[in-house]
Amino acid sequence: MPECDGGMRFVPFVFTACVLQAFGRDLYDFSIKYLNNLFDADGGHCAGSFLAIFEMFTRYSVESPSSDEDWMKLAYNAALDAFAAGEVPVGAVIIRKNQSLAVTHNDVIGSGSVLGHCELEAIRQAAVAIGDWRLNECTLYVTKEPCPMCSGACVMSRIGRVVFAIGDNKMGCLGGCGCNFASQISFNHSFTYTTGILEQPCRKLLQKFFYMRRTNSIIGA
Ligand SMILES: [Zn+2]
Repeated sequence: MPECDGGMRFVPFVFTACVLQAFGRDLYDFSIKYLNNLFDADGGHCAGSFLAIFEMFTRYSVESPSSDEDWMKLAYNAALDAFAAGEVPVGAVIIRKNQSLAVTHNDVIGSGSVLGHCELEAIRQAAVAIGDWRLNECTLYVTKEPCPMCSGACVMSRIGRVVFAIGDNKMGCLGGCGCNFASQISFNHSFTYTTGILEQPCRKLLQKFFYMRRTNSIIGA
C-alpha cells in the first residue's frame, strides 16, 4: 500500500465530513481522535484504508427487511451506535412474524451495569411490545454470539430462534465456548440458531473497536 503524501491530507476532512453527515455530531470527537491516531502514528494510511474505514462506518440501508441478512444489517446499524457511544459494538434486533419488536445496542458504560448487554434490553423490549414474556415466536438477531448471561436469558425468555453473526470461543454459550445453552437436555426450553450471517463486517467492527481501545484512541476507553 502506498504511503500517504501531502495530497492525502484532505482525507481527514473528507472523512470527518462524511461521518458527520452520516451520524451527526455524536461521532465528531471520535472521528478526530481516530484520525489523529491513524495519521500521526505511522505516517498515515492511504485510500484503501480510508475506504475500508468509510465502508465500516456506513449504515446499511434496508427498506423492507425480510431475510436473515436484512435483519442482521439492522443489528449492525445498532452496533454502530454502540461504537459511537464508546460501547463494545454489538447490536441486537428481535422480530416476530417479520415485524421488528426491538432494536438495541450495548449500553454497559452508559447504564453503568453489566445488564446493559443489548440482548437483555432487546428481550425486555420485545416482551413489552407483545405483552408476554414468552418469546417463542420471536427471533433474536445479534452481531456476536451471546454470552452466558444473554444465552441464559434466551432460554428463560423461551426465545424461538437466535441468529448471530460471529462466534465467540471464549464467552459464547451457543456452542462457541464449548457449552451450548440452545440444546441443554436438562433445560426446559431449547431453540434453534444460525450463525455466520454478515460475519465479516461484524467481525471487522469489533476488531477495529478493540484495536482502537488498545491504542487509547476511542472515547469511553
Ligand atoms: Zn451478553
